[in-house]
Amino acid sequence: SGLPMRNADLPAPKLSFEFFPPRTEALEQQLWACIKRLEPLAPRFVSVTYGAGGSTQARTHAIVSRIARETGLVPAAHLTCVGATRVDVDAVARRYWEAGIRHIVALRGDPPPGSAYEPHPGGYPYAVDLVAGLKMVADFEISVAAYPEVHPAASSPMADLENLKRKLDAGATRAITQYFFETSTYLRFLDLCLAAGITAPIVPGIMPVSNFAQAVKFSDMCGASVPAWMGRLFEGTDDDPETRRMVGMVIAAEQVRLLQANGVDEFHFYTLNRPDLTYAIAHVLGVRARVAA
Ligand code: FAD
Repeated sequence: SGLPMRNADLPAPKLSFEFFPPRTEALEQQLWACIKRLEPLAPRFVSVTYGAGGSTQARTHAIVSRIARETGLVPAAHLTCVGATRVDVDAVARRYWEAGIRHIVALRGDPPPGSAYEPHPGGYPYAVDLVAGLKMVADFEISVAAYPEVHPAASSPMADLENLKRKLDAGATRAITQYFFETSTYLRFLDLCLAAGITAPIVPGIMPVSNFAQAVKFSDMCGASVPAWMGRLFEGTDDDPETRRMVGMVIAAEQVRLLQANGVDEFHFYTLNRPDLTYAIAHVLGVRARVAA
């Protein structure tokens, strides 16, 4: 028993890749190299995040528009409603529509570290309100966030699940999950979604880890738990980046293959603007580069 060595009989899964707007010229070069490297894998879409509090508005817009102009990829723009008026958010959305961007990943966003979230008086209070507002601006395709380990500020797991259902009912067509390392957590969450009457795809967010210490810090902030077995696998690799990367590759490859064996055929990768692990994991999933004709 165990996993088949190859999932050769399965159709190749549908992929999407997430990037973030870099802060420097050098990192911007790295981003475009990453996009170019992943482009032949023909993902369904690639998404570009929106910095905390909307801080990267201009950069997100510039990158998304350039992807639309200069690549064969379909871009999606992340958009948050924290700290902004409805008028401002609608204006950003309208500019996307005018630039030919048809897909928005609609999020609430987070308050500055240390403070509790408060809706902007003239803004969209929560992501569900943002989804409804975006649909009034134009007929965008909309993705929303889901939390297999429950959003840290949710009053209860059930309330969080109902919030997800409301976001989908308001016009979103898919949810992308926060990353998780325990595959059973996601599979249980899928069951809960089905039981709650959610029929939209709940696409697992995959975070290939090559810097464990950084991943631990980041996971703490976003409420993703890091299992003890993962710490043991990375043990002693702090000064050995090459081994660390290979360990990260093994962990992520096992995770996606287990998901695939459980019928999951869509994956969203948090690339962190680095293509190599994502490329290799996609390969393991059966995705091959398409050569341009
Ligand atoms: P919501 O769906 O609005 O939920 C937020 C919280 O409020 C939940 O706990 C929910 O249960 C609760 N809630 C909902 N409605 C109510 C209500 N009426 N009263 C009380 N509580 C309520 N952040 C960025 O800044 N930029 C990005 O580009 C970005 N991209 C992301 C992509 C993905 C796939 C994911 C999973 C997250 C992303 N985030 C991003 C992080 C996100 O902004 C935070 O996780 C944020 O805290 C919640 O956003 P949300 O859209 O899930 O919010």
